[in-house]
Amino acid sequence: MSKLDPLFSSELARAETRRVRRRLRTASAAAPGRLVLEGEPVLNFSSNDYLGLSRHPLLVERSREWAARHGAGAQASRLVTGNLDLHEQVEAKLARLKGTEAALLLASGWQANAAVLPALLRAAASQGEVELYADKLNHASLHHGCQAAGVRQIRFRHNDLDHLESLLAGKAETAAGKSVSRFIVTESVFSMDGDRTDVERLAALADRHQAFVYLDEAHATGVLGPRGMGLAGLAPGRIDLAMGTFSKALGGFGAYVAGSRALCDYLINACSGFIYTTALPPAVLGAMDAALDLVPTLDAERARLAAAGDNLRAALRGMGLDTGASSTQIVPAIVGDEARALALASGLEQRGLLAVAIRPPTVPAGTSRLRVTLSAAHRDVDVARLIDGFAAVLA
Ligand code: PMP
Repeated sequence: MSKLDPLFSSELARAETRRVRRRLRTASAAAPGRLVLEGEPVLNFSSNDYLGLSRHPLLVERSREWAARHGAGAQASRLVTGNLDLHEQVEAKLARLKGTEAALLLASGWQANAAVLPALLRAAASQGEVELYADKLNHASLHHGCQAAGVRQIRFRHNDLDHLESLLAGKAETAAGKSVSRFIVTESVFSMDGDRTDVERLAALADRHQAFVYLDEAHATGVLGPRGMGLAGLAPGRIDLAMGTFSKALGGFGAYVAGSRALCDYLINACSGFIYTTALPPAVLGAMDAALDLVPTLDAERARLAAAGDNLRAALRGMGLDTGASSTQIVPAIVGDEARALALASGLEQRGLLAVAIRPPTVPAGTSRLRVTLSAAHRDVDVARLIDGFAAVLA
């Protein structure tokens, strides 16, 4: 027993009463797009393995090979003795694909956002005033990074660049003559809604207002944009920092930021989440390297994924479900009420279809939903089974 167990127990009981107690469920991946969940085989419409790469032989083999050749761990942080040629090889490949001067690997997407934003914002704050514009529906890790920096966020309405521009213009009048650093923090594809930012417009308005753009490409990397490497590539050289993960469409684990050489060198010097953590291990780097070789070749998979998204949205809308502004492989069925979302998810699961219900605080109150995610590993018949499942549960 720990000394705080009574506290933990009462917190858990409170969560139980509010019906927000979280529980882990034991899963084993049967194959991409499929899962055995607590012993039951299900079609998995809740993973972020958008290209089905998590089990790709090339990733698994290179991961195994690099571990066998270079060991299970990197032994130290990058700035001490952990900086292997493998890290530099993956970073160079990534920068080439992203079309940036440089790239830097970080441990996970959550950790990257939580650590990189404070490093950037604190440097700017030491020089003068900082204005930080953040989308209202930014991921928890972006929010955490902004909060950790101690800089007040100016939240703009979700994916509303008109609102962002009017906020920037309003502030510009009051800030005339002062030294101000402006930051815009947003996502290229939003994790819970599957809608995308107009990145070219974002870049143009950032240029007009001299704002630094921090773009989270967690759900776009591998799926959208030039070479499938995210939407920042639609505004070459104009997105100051594109962050993304290897943990979703790229099938593995880890994260990156891509941008200028000076930006990456600065982070190597100032980002404590880079400096004080052990370098990523060879097995992880091997999977990253293989995924980067594969992603530019997967146009057919991306086209199939996009078509499956269109098909699913049309079918769900036909049943009267609200899929919001989704235009990607993430298709929410927004039902509003928490209990209804849970009942819908449970009905689908009884039919061997996993589409997890997402409720507040992960999404705003009144917008509980099933977050359906498609993968290129799903066959047409799998998506058809899901559509039939929705129809049956709603009947
Ligand atoms: N950013 C966004 C927008 C995300 O959805 C996620 C994952 N849920 C992350 C960052 C964190 O990435 P990772 O899973 O690699 O920690």
